[in-house]
Amino acid sequence: MDSVSIEDYVFSFPAVSGLKKLPESLPVGSWISYQLSLEVFEAVTLQIGRLGSFTFRPGDYLYSGSARRGLKNRIDRHLRRKKKLRWHIDYLLHSPAVEIYRVLISTRPECELVQKGGGVVVVPGFGASDCRSGCGSHLRMVTVPDCKRKLQRTLASSVIVD
Ligand SMILES: [Zn+2]
Repeated sequence: MDSVSIEDYVFSFPAVSGLKKLPESLPVGSWISYQLSLEVFEAVTLQIGRLGSFTFRPGDYLYSGSARRGLKNRIDRHLRRKKKLRWHIDYLLHSPAVEIYRVLISTRPECELVQKGGGVVVVPGFGASDCRSGCGSHLRMVTVPDCKRKLQRTLASSVIVD
């Protein structure tokens, strides 16, 4: 059996639309969860399914989710703008003012990623319908100074081992 000693993989994307892609096959591992780093470029007010209408301020956000089967398909779906809107995150990612710039996959439960990522709740209950860990929301706004973000993007390569 193949095994990996590292826990998490990070896939970073160039800050250019249309080039966002996961590697054809993910590294071998018991991946069960993922975390998307998003940037909201300008304030947008969006209807998030039945949760209601919310204004998202410009900045960086983290969204954590899980897919015990079909993790790659799930992430590829998030990366596609055109789709039937189903989950809360679909309503946010559908907006042209929002971009995914980094994907992390992990062997840890999604709620652990939420709590490790910190940040503040913007939409109570977002992506957390099944959450029993008291996250409040699986989408969090995180504050990253502009210069740091630009540096991260400059350094971003296709695959970085965490
Ligand atoms: Zn949770």
